[in-house]
Order: sequence, then C-alpha cells, then structure tokens
Amino acid sequence: MRLNSKWNRRSFLGSAGVIASSLLAPRKLFSWNRRAAGASTPVSGFGQTGNPYEELGVTTVINCEGTMTMLGGSLPHPELEAVMTLAGRHFVSIPELEVAAGKRIAEMLKLPEGYTALVTSGAAAAIQSGLAGILTGGNEALIRQLPDLTGMKSEVIIQKSHRNPFDHQLRSTGIKLIEIETVDQLRAAVNERTAMMHFSNFANAAGQIKVEEWVKLAKQYNIPCMNDAAADTPPVSHLWDYTNMGYDLVTFSGGKAIRGPQCAGLLIGRTEMVANALLNNSPHEDTLGRSQKVGKEEIVGMVKALELFLAQDHEALAKEWQDRLEGISREINKIPGVSTSFFVPDIANHVPHMSITWDEARIPLTPQEASKLLRNSKPSIVMGSGEGRPGLAMNSFMLQPGEDKIVTEQLSRLLREHAA
Ligand SMILES: *Cc1c(COP(=O)(O)O)cnc(C)c1O
Repeated sequence: MRLNSKWNRRSFLGSAGVIASSLLAPRKLFSWNRRAAGASTPVSGFGQTGNPYEELGVTTVINCEGTMTMLGGSLPHPELEAVMTLAGRHFVSIPELEVAAGKRIAEMLKLPEGYTALVTSGAAAAIQSGLAGILTGGNEALIRQLPDLTGMKSEVIIQKSHRNPFDHQLRSTGIKLIEIETVDQLRAAVNERTAMMHFSNFANAAGQIKVEEWVKLAKQYNIPCMNDAAADTPPVSHLWDYTNMGYDLVTFSGGKAIRGPQCAGLLIGRTEMVANALLNNSPHEDTLGRSQKVGKEEIVGMVKALELFLAQDHEALAKEWQDRLEGISREINKIPGVSTSFFVPDIANHVPHMSITWDEARIPLTPQEASKLLRNSKPSIVMGSGEGRPGLAMNSFMLQPGEDKIVTEQLSRLLREHAA
C-alpha cells in the first residue's frame, strides 16, 4: 500500500468525502445470511472442553494481581465478542476506520476542540507513534527515514524518576532521552533539538515536577508534551483529565482496566499530531510503526469497550471489589496469627487491595514461599508478595465469579497447613 499522507491527514482534519455507501445494503444482507447459517455451529477450541488453553497444555490461572500484560492483561467485556466477530465480516479502509473511530472516541470522551484519538496496538505503540509523528510531521521522506533522525529534532526531556521500561518506545525512534530532576535543570535542557517533553503518569509522586506543572512548562517553551497514563484508569476521569490540562498527547492501554481487546490502546491528542502518528503506523508500509498492526476487529472492539467502560457504575464496581476482599479477609482472619489490611494505590491499579500478613513464628512460611505454593496449587492462583509491603498483596478486580471462594479456601488451607 502506498503511503498517502495527504488523504489521511485531510480525513483526520474532517474535510475528506466519505466513501460512497451504495453497496452497503446488499453486503449487509449477505453477512446476515451467513451469520444465520453459521449460528448453530458449536464453539470449539482444540477439543470440547471449552478451554482452548488447557487443550494446548497451558494452565490457566486465577488472577489476584490485576492487569498484568504477562498474564494476558484483562478479560475483555463479553459484549465485545459479538461486535468483533461482526467486524471480522467486512473489508474496510483501515485509515478511514481509524479516523471514524477517533471521532467517535472524541465525542464519547468530550475531548477539547481540536483533539481526536487513534486506536493503536497498545499504549506502548501509542507512545512510539505519537513521538514519531511529532518528529516527522507529515513528511513522507522523514517517515521512511526513521529511526535515522537526520534533519529532525532529536531529544526528549524526561524526569529521571520517570524513566521506565516503556521509554524504550521513545528511544526506538532514535531520540536521546535527556534526564532532568529540577525545574532549573529543565530550563537548561531545552534547546532547538528538543522534540518533546515526556511524563510517566504513574511516577507523578516520585518526580519533583508534578503533572500540571510539567505541561505548563512545556507550553512556556512551546514543546509538545506527552503523558503516558497507560494503566491509570480507574478513575475514569483520567481519560479526559490530562487533555483538559493541556497535554498534547496522552496514551492508554485498551487491554487493562478498560477491558478492551488485549492488543489495543489509545493515543489521544491534538488532531494534527494524531494524524501524523497514524502516518507512522500500520497499515502504512515503510514506517517505524508497521510492526504495531492493529486490526479492524480491535479498532471496533476498542471503541465499543470504551463505550461500555464509560457506561459502568464505577462506584458500585469499586464496592464489589472491596466486598470480595472483605469476604476473603473475614475467613482468613479466623486463622490464629493472620491479619489483613486494606489499601488503594494512589495511581496505576487504583483499586482496592488487601495485604495479608502472618506471624512467622506461628506460621513458618515466607510470603515468597506462600506465593509459589499458590501458583503451583490447583487451580493455580497468582498472588504476589509485595506492592512494597510485608506479606502477600492481592486485589480482586480481575477475579471471575466464584473465584473469590476458591482463593479463600486455598489460602486458608495453605496457612493452616503450615501452622507450627
Ligand atoms: C502497560 C503499560 C504500558 C504499555 O501498554 P500496552 O497497552 O501493553 O502496550 C505503557 N506504560 C505503562 C506505564 C504501562 O503500565
């Protein structure tokens, strides 16, 4: 496919004509007929158990840790299944779909004037393509040239405490990260090579310059500013808080608490920058982001997931998650020497958590050993020792119905069995 920047940019800016839809009606009819014909086919994986993972010989786990990409992120809203299946029954221009999805997302989130969104293959992809778009603009030669930065800006400023594994997606464009700690150091670091100022939202407390001040400073210098808020919903308001603050680009994971398709994410930002990000991304060839393909099914699924996420009663959910933890707490507190306490991390996995500690003189078992035994139990339970606290820590927002009972039973059995 030829890289056609003008067409895409124009579409994003809202002036392109919509492709004629005269063929839609018969096609739609055809798809309905096909669906009806296939409706009675039984669901199967590689056998009839209903669990394709077990059929492949891979053990599924009960997730008490939260939205960990290593464990598969989150389980998508069940409603997505049907929508994504329908999306897989038609061909469509992907850039046109991306523009339409972005418009719908901007409406749903009531983004400020001049903002839109791009569905990417994840927040990591959003980081890379967002920066790539800033570096290249709509210049096709520069897009093909990345990560060779000849003729482009080449530095991104970041607070030292905000460095994290996902800044690899900044470095992959070829830029150099300039680490600073204080406002004075920031002022000294800004120069004509500065392409962007990056903020890692989860590190807000760790850095000297907080989220609002960071974007204000960027505005003073007229430097584009990105906030990686990948894992920072809930609260749901984070989806618009940062654009309201003035951030030019904000990234979110689709496959974490939003419970969209696992291979989806959002780049929310200024229309021109988002358009340029798309030019640096799949389906466009000879681009840095061609390896970050997002499919039509994921794009549609992501928009739908966002709609479902916004419609949820977030307070009721938080209460349900807390109630589950309290149910587990009541039972294991009956074991001599065991105690529990509750906490909510300020940011990232901002949901009810429970610490589980025990007197190791009465129950000679380290949290690491307990975690390992739970992992090896049947069914397998993933519960970390940690969050920087003693004992085990768990949350309940990824638990499926009935799993809190299993966790209660296995945890109780484990702790009782090891009592001295
Ligand atoms: C999970 C995460 C990402 C990556 O998100 P994906 O959607 O998995 O690509 C980026 N940044 C932070 C801080 C994250 O927690």
